[in-house]
Amino acid sequence: MTGPTHAAVRRERILQAAVRQGLLDPEQSLLAAFVDLDGVEATVGGLHRAFPGSVPVLHSFAAKANSLVPVLAELERAGMGCEVATAGELARALAAGFPPERIVFDSPAKTRGELERALGLGVAVNADNFQELARIDRMLDGRPPLSHLGVRINSQVGGGAIAAMSTATSTSKFGVPLSDPGVRRRLLQAFRDYPWLTWIHTHAGSQGCPLDLMARGVAQAVEFAEEVDAVLGERRIVGIDIGGGLPVNFADDEISPTFDTYVAHLRAHAPALFERGYRVVTEFGRSVLAKNGFMAAYVEYTKSAGGRPIAITHAGVHVATRTVFGPEAWPVRIEAHHGSGRAKQGRLVRQDVAGPACFAGDLLARDRALPSLEPGDLVVVPDTGAYYFSTPFHYNSLPEPAVHGVRVDGDGRTEFTLLRPAQDPWELPDHAGWTAREPVGARSRETG
Ligand SMILES: *Cc1c(COP(=O)(O)O)cnc(C)c1O
Repeated sequence: MTGPTHAAVRRERILQAAVRQGLLDPEQSLLAAFVDLDGVEATVGGLHRAFPGSVPVLHSFAAKANSLVPVLAELERAGMGCEVATAGELARALAAGFPPERIVFDSPAKTRGELERALGLGVAVNADNFQELARIDRMLDGRPPLSHLGVRINSQVGGGAIAAMSTATSTSKFGVPLSDPGVRRRLLQAFRDYPWLTWIHTHAGSQGCPLDLMARGVAQAVEFAEEVDAVLGERRIVGIDIGGGLPVNFADDEISPTFDTYVAHLRAHAPALFERGYRVVTEFGRSVLAKNGFMAAYVEYTKSAGGRPIAITHAGVHVATRTVFGPEAWPVRIEAHHGSGRAKQGRLVRQDVAGPACFAGDLLARDRALPSLEPGDLVVVPDTGAYYFSTPFHYNSLPEPAVHGVRVDGDGRTEFTLLRPAQDPWELPDHAGWTAREPVGARSRETG
């Protein structure tokens, strides 16, 4: 057997420090999440280095992957831009300090109000369809835009392993389907009609998509850009937004594929992207944050049913929604730790790791070989920095856990900063529909 990875040792250290400092407590703080801010910085550095220095690139972080404002602010400081897809994400990006010229607004359902706000601020906008292009043209009313405006094309190169993550299928809801009959011609006409339209956007999909497929999607976008310029007889296309979607390895601690590997695929399939003076925007989400976050939860009880050992923990559907509803597509690793945070050793026992929610499918792992879990142990769920605890699901009124940023200094000292406070289940949040500010008990006495 090989020893623990560097990443596993780091997680164990962080966990032990978190227990010592009371950030995890079997009575008060049953579930907590951690974002490794040193890791985020290193990942963003790797992303910047992967792309050729001669090409002006704005790496915009896809806010939906982790929309906590302090996380976005950290990415802003690291030199990234921000890709937003709703008014809520735009509000968070602005709150995090992104200047409008480093924000890109993508959404298939932008309202007039949202477009007005974005255009007024000077946020870049990628239109999704012909109707939206016409709407933007009416709004601009002949005025030059403050920001760069593009159109999303669907290269229709096909899907990956997870249907819900594949945006470049022939019938995808996203973008202008370039190979449908007559559509290419119609889009070229749109470029003639709309002199403000200067960017091409594509995002071929996400987790489960092979790199060749993604790079072929980008190649289609570049080819179309060259066709636009040729047909118009001018240099119209200023830049290409190649989207995000680099898949993440959820099986172990290896970072694979890397941004370098993806850039090598782009060079092979779409060399013109880097050779014709285009500006480039990227929109990576999962690949920036997933492996820089983990969560940890206490085991409350253990039992056996039908011969299967089951550990009931405090991490479930509210923080691992995709894994619980799509366990085949979204398996996560589980690590067993003692209540002190120290990694558990010992004989592996096949067991279910369940969440606290009241439906049978609320399982983080089924029949998983782990050291035998006992009440008071901690389970760690690595690779959950994107699309997990940052995107909570309010089933069963389960509270959102605290999220802590963590840095480890040269002397091995672990320093935590609170990125999001835990919800107190005894305090009703605003979205519970309860408007009174007094304690629940007081109100019931008064009305009862
Ligand atoms: C979701 C999304 C992204 C980010 O995808 P990741 O797989 O997290 O990198 C980028 N661009 C668009 C348009 C998206 O919808």
